[in-house]
Amino acid sequence: MPLSRHLTSLAAGAVAAGALLAVAPSGTATAARPEAAGCQVNESGTPAFAARGGTGGDTRAVSAAEQKRIQADLEKRLAAKKGATAASSGRIGATVPVYFHVMLSASGAGDVTQSQIDQQISVLNRDYAGGKSSTAADLGVTFTLAGVDRYKNNSWHQDKQSSTYRRQTRLGGKNALNVWLVDFSYLGIATFPWDYARQGAIDGIRVQYSSLPGGSIANYNLGETASHEAGHWFGLYHTFQGGCTATNDEVTDTPAQSSATSGCPAGRDSCSLPGLDPIHNFMDYSYDSCYLEFTQGQADRASQMWAAYRA
Ligand SMILES: [Zn+2]
Repeated sequence: MPLSRHLTSLAAGAVAAGALLAVAPSGTATAARPEAAGCQVNESGTPAFAARGGTGGDTRAVSAAEQKRIQADLEKRLAAKKGATAASSGRIGATVPVYFHVMLSASGAGDVTQSQIDQQISVLNRDYAGGKSSTAADLGVTFTLAGVDRYKNNSWHQDKQSSTYRRQTRLGGKNALNVWLVDFSYLGIATFPWDYARQGAIDGIRVQYSSLPGGSIANYNLGETASHEAGHWFGLYHTFQGGCTATNDEVTDTPAQSSATSGCPAGRDSCSLPGLDPIHNFMDYSYDSCYLEFTQGQADRASQMWAAYRA
C-alpha cells in the first residue's frame, strides 16, 4: 500500500475527527499533518500508515473568513511594533529551545535514542537554514536541545487526554518548541502562534515517535515531520491552504495547489493559476525525501509571525 501523509482509512478518519473534537470546544489551534495517517499496527509491529491524504488535518481548520481575521491581527501587531521588528529582514533571528517529551507506554514502547533526538535537532537546523537546496530560504533560526523527559502512561503514549498531558508537561515560554513524541494516527499535529495567548499551556507539536531519523515508517523517517509541524508552529499554512485561490497560503512565492501532494510527483500542476505545485516545499505532504525547501516568502511570513507572537 502506498504511503502518503493523508488519512484514508475509516479508522484513521475516526481518530482525526476525535482529535479535532478534543480541541474544538476550547478553541485550540490544533493541526494534524494527517500525517501519521491510517496508523494501524500490523503483525510486524510497524504502523501501516495508509496514506497522507484524505480527511482531517494536522492543523485546526482555518476558514477563509478566519484566515482574513488572522491576517488583520498580524498586521495590527506588526504596525504596533513598527521599528522594533526584525520582520522586514525575512529572518526570524532567534534561538529556539526545544524540549522533547517522550511519551512511553507503561511497558516502555515508543522510546527513541539520544542519537535520534540529536539527529532530529540537526535536521531542524539544516532545514531552517536552507541546507537541502540552493534555492531554499534561510529562516535565520537556531534550534538547541533544552531538555528530554520521559513519561510512562498508556493514554498519553496514544495521545489521549492530550490537553491534559500537554498542560502538565509543557516547558519554557512562548519561544520554546515543545515536541511530544507519541504513537497515534497522524505523523504530527501542531498549534499556531496566534493561538498562544489563549492556549499557551498546550502550545507545541505532537509528532509520531517513529518519524524521527532512523525511525520505522518507510518514506517518513528522515525527521521531516518535525520540520513540517514546526512550520505551522512558526505560523505557516499548508501550501494547499485555500486551494486554487490567489490568497492561498498568504505566501506569494508558493504557487497555489488544489490539494495535498502524496509521494513526489514531479510536474504536478493542480491549479490553472501560474506555477507548478510546490511539491518540494516542507509545507506540502510529500515524502520526507521529496522535501527540499521553505521559500523566501515563507521566511518573511515566519519572521513576521515570530515578531508578532513569539518574540
Ligand atoms: Zn501540516
